[in-house]
Amino acid sequence: PSELLLYCRPGFESDLSAELQARTGALNARDVAGHVTAEPGAGYVRWVMSDGRAANVLHRELPLDALVFARQSLVALPPLVGLSREDRLTPIIAQVVASGWSFESLWQETPDSNEAKALAGLMKALQKPLESTLRKRGALRRKAGGRRLHLYWTTGDGVQLGMSFPGKRSETLGGIRRLRSPHDAPSRSTLKLEEAWHEFIPREEWPERLHAGMQAADLGAAPGGWTYQLVRQGMYVYAIDNGPMGRELMATGQVEHLREDGFTWQPPQRLDWLVCDIVDKPMRVVDMVERWLLKRWCREAVFNLKLPMKQRWAEVARCLERLEARLADAGVEARIACKQLYHDREEVTVHVRLS
Ligand code: SAM
Repeated sequence: PSELLLYCRPGFESDLSAELQARTGALNARDVAGHVTAEPGAGYVRWVMSDGRAANVLHRELPLDALVFARQSLVALPPLVGLSREDRLTPIIAQVVASGWSFESLWQETPDSNEAKALAGLMKALQKPLESTLRKRGALRRKAGGRRLHLYWTTGDGVQLGMSFPGKRSETLGGIRRLRSPHDAPSRSTLKLEEAWHEFIPREEWPERLHAGMQAADLGAAPGGWTYQLVRQGMYVYAIDNGPMGRELMATGQVEHLREDGFTWQPPQRLDWLVCDIVDKPMRVVDMVERWLLKRWCREAVFNLKLPMKQRWAEVARCLERLEARLADAGVEARIACKQLYHDREEVTVHVRLS
């Protein structure tokens, strides 16, 4: 495989490209030599290695967890284009067999666009024939290290084949974690915090890191979608916002609503969680969160950085570098992660956990 194929939110191809360029710039030039190709709105970005070199080292050196704008990361073969409508199968099988790949499962996916939805029927019709042929050829089999073959359909006659590895991939179709909006949540943004927890906290650690009796602050809380999630975990929440909070939420008795400025409010005692969804300049939010962390007013934080500007990667990079540098200067050890989640639009979500 001589390419990386990375999925992203449509419209963020240039941000992912800029991120890849910055990140590869810090690696050994020989392992990463290549160039990025991206079409605006396509929903994916390719990193094509020079001289057909293998992309495996690059894939290892740029783990998906460390990429802000990527939803999925695959090592990939060159795209197949102009497939015949009569026989799409043969060239696909030929490419798999020539690659020598073996895998335990086969997923068909498309970019996250409306046009691509029309390809659902095609993928459904192909799934069984693909599986049975690839099984006969010995490519699809048990005990293939958990590897998964991805067929990424960009059009009805164009597909790119990629491979993913356990622990180094998103386990959701298209890299998208669809969550059901709770009917009684005061806003749909509630899903952003829920998705953040899925993304940043391993499921088996939820009981110790998100539990009843914990205390949280929600800055910019109204109408209460994020507070709702905290309350649902049994936490007590200081909800800071001038705007009104959902009635049912207040009726739980687990919320104290304070009409104060989230940038200056100080908690009455140390809390467990800080969350913040205020729409403001990213650096202003980072400075505020940094104060919370340096004073250890919370142990974990989830906050969003709104990115209405053009150079979104540059802004995110500046913010993360600043936060890292300030914490390091103060000798505060922390793990920082950042992702554009599926439910994030022009924004990214940051998670920080103090050690
Ligand atoms: N996370 C919320 C939810 O799920 O319902 C939505 C938050 S909304 C995107 C942003 C909120 O930040 C608004 O309700 C706004 O009033 C509040 N806000 C803006 N500036 C603020 C500040 N300086 N202090 C506190 N809240 C602020």
